Amino acid sequence: MQGRFANIIVDISHEKVDRPFQYRIPEALLGLPEPGMKVRIPFGSGNKLRTGYIIEITDEPEFDVSRLKEIDSVIEEGVQVESRLIRLAFWMKEHYGSTMINALKTVLPVRQKLKQQEKKEICLRVGKEEARAEMLQCERKHQGAKARVLRELIAEERLPQTLVARKLNISPSTFRSLQEAGLIAINSVPYYRNPVKLDAQREAGHRLSERQQFVVDSVLKDYDDGIRQTYLLRGITGSGKTEVYMELIAQMIQRGRQAVMLIPEIALTYQTVLRFYKRFGDRVSVMNSTLSPGEKYDQCERARKGEIDVIIGPRSALFTPFPDIGIIIIDEEHENSYKSETMPKYHARETAEELAALHGASVFLGSATPSLESFYRAKQGKYKLFTLNERLTGGVLPTVYVEDLRQELKNGNRSIFSKRLQSLLEDRLERGEQSMLFLNRRGYAGFVSCRMCGHVMKCPHCDVSLSEHRNGTLVCHYCGFTQPAVKLCPECGSKYILGFRAGTEQIEEQLHKLYPDKKVLRMDADTTKTKDSYEKILSAFSAGEADILVGTQMIVKGHDFPNVTLMGILAADMSLSVNDYRAGERTFQLLTQAAGRAGRGTRPGEVVIQTYQPEHYSILHAAAQDYEGFYEEEILYRQMLSYPPVSHILAVQVTSAAQEGGEVLAGQLKRLCVGAPEGRVEKTIIIGPAPAFIGRINDIFRYVLYVKNPDYEVLIRLKNRMEHFLKEEDRKDESVQFDFDPMSSF
Ligand code: ADP
Ligand code: ZN
Ligand code: ZN
Repeated sequence: MQGRFANIIVDISHEKVDRPFQYRIPEALLGLPEPGMKVRIPFGSGNKLRTGYIIEITDEPEFDVSRLKEIDSVIEEGVQVESRLIRLAFWMKEHYGSTMINALKTVLPVRQKLKQQEKKEICLRVGKEEARAEMLQCERKHQGAKARVLRELIAEERLPQTLVARKLNISPSTFRSLQEAGLIAINSVPYYRNPVKLDAQREAGHRLSERQQFVVDSVLKDYDDGIRQTYLLRGITGSGKTEVYMELIAQMIQRGRQAVMLIPEIALTYQTVLRFYKRFGDRVSVMNSTLSPGEKYDQCERARKGEIDVIIGPRSALFTPFPDIGIIIIDEEHENSYKSETMPKYHARETAEELAALHGASVFLGSATPSLESFYRAKQGKYKLFTLNERLTGGVLPTVYVEDLRQELKNGNRSIFSKRLQSLLEDRLERGEQSMLFLNRRGYAGFVSCRMCGHVMKCPHCDVSLSEHRNGTLVCHYCGFTQPAVKLCPECGSKYILGFRAGTEQIEEQLHKLYPDKKVLRMDADTTKTKDSYEKILSAFSAGEADILVGTQMIVKGHDFPNVTLMGILAADMSLSVNDYRAGERTFQLLTQAAGRAGRGTRPGEVVIQTYQPEHYSILHAAAQDYEGFYEEEILYRQMLSYPPVSHILAVQVTSAAQEGGEVLAGQLKRLCVGAPEGRVEKTIIIGPAPAFIGRINDIFRYVLYVKNPDYEVLIRLKNRMEHFLKEEDRKDESVQFDFDPMSSF
């Protein structure tokens, strides 16, 4: 693009400089810079050289041209970013609230300077006829090695040198002498690390069922008619969703376009990758947090150069610099991990839709238990809905029992296993079938409370309960505070102050006591710290090396264990006790997923849901595997309290080292909102400020202000006003974060 001026974002994380600065493009560089390029520019009064990103090239100076500084140089080694990604960053900044530089850093490929890896390739420098004559000559002269190399190159035009050396047992000197004789050339070609090292046989896809084919055909017909929109596929686990994704991707590749396949990181297992690899060979690659920066960089380069058509990865895979994306697929679209926890706090779903608009691509969402957001939009007609109801691999839906833990206690059963769960467990152990026991979140397990007065042991620095560890200490999982366990309740002096003995560790212990000769595996954050440990536990269990697998959320996510015929959900309501408007939804999703684990093979499965609230609608609908029934009840509650998806919420979180400063600033922001025109719109609701749900972490105080309005634009305008207000003053002690439609309460 020709243009004499560049608008540049300086790579300094400070609100004051978070706007474009204009620079002159020097004569020598005219025509070279493009949006997305990294440059060196003099900045500030000392004209210190800084890095910046060009976001726009223009012919219109904003100031007196003679006062504009010049770009110093273009940084070549950096990855050049498509202007589309920059536009996406702008949108993210606006839509989610963040500085421009943070938004840019989120979408830009790995930015470190990385050494390009190279490999040597050999090819003929003479025609094939001549090569053949030389080859015969070498053979006559008993120069077997040279002849072999030439023969190989006559058959195949170019080959990696190391491959030929190994295969034909050729020494470096042979290559050199062929090169010196002018017969072959040895070239260094860039080489990209491929994190997928699988030697799988390529396999065609299954022949699609009628339902699957209908979904694929509908999407493609829209696509070929120039219609771009978002689709939602609701289908129970095993109903063939992944097969649909792969067919859609294959069709997009045929149309010359690329595909982004998002999968929650936790579900991005060897089996999943293998399946895609079998279908698409090395045209597919993977992006995840275990890749080295170099490997990540190389995947971006491969995408940019057109060497791959498909990327599989968690939410950040959205920012793979493909030239021409045709479809973005999001599997398990209800997963919380699609929302970023750092600024900008973007959600992969909406960001995918924005990116798709920039590329002219379609968005395809899939889930067994769609988020309320997506199903709501489907009901409104914004998304096109498809349903797959049957498991393709056979297997009937399991029988579900709901066990009331209060009743168990009344009947004198003080164990964490209800009578029914115990007898079913023993039945499986006798028959040699496998069971899984699922416990919600480690953080809630092990909290210590008084059975007499209800007092809960809390951290003195954070408003969260302490967890009892096996070594007899009480630990805060937020700040690490540790104290010895107490014998008497500090409130009422009763001795019935006890841990809720239901951490995964304790369950494992109990099982060992009950069934000393049986093998139990445990999977939680503690046992999966090292690389590969997750896969190892799964494959050990899969190979039948244990009778029972105990674990947290991790065991619930989409693994197929045909020999598992019993699933025990130990305390279904643990996630309901959290102060969070999505608690009901999350509980329903978890229970439904967990229930889906049992009876995947030919034998029917049974599920036991243990709970203190058997009458809760999340539990009842999950037991009945009734998504729509749950949706209808949940959406009423969201409507009543103006929660997403019916309304939108902007959470403004103020953190501060000094309690007063935080409180004052939060109050100022509230008055700003109340006084603004948007604050007076009929449907705006402003709540707070109040101390956050966890009011203090590590002695940093947290206040939160909630603003609700069904119109997202109103919230954006209020956010902009607050941002503007915050820019006016330097703040060292307080900081403010915005979170639109938060996934949990603060
Ligand atoms: P989901 O993604 O909904 O869990 P999958 O696509 O993984 O479902 O399909 C479940 C199982 O059924 C897999 O083993 C898959 O290979 C198989 N499968 C999917 N579609 C078909 C089909 N059309 N014909 C035969 N088997 C299929
Ligand atoms: Zn007490
Ligand atoms: Zn703490």
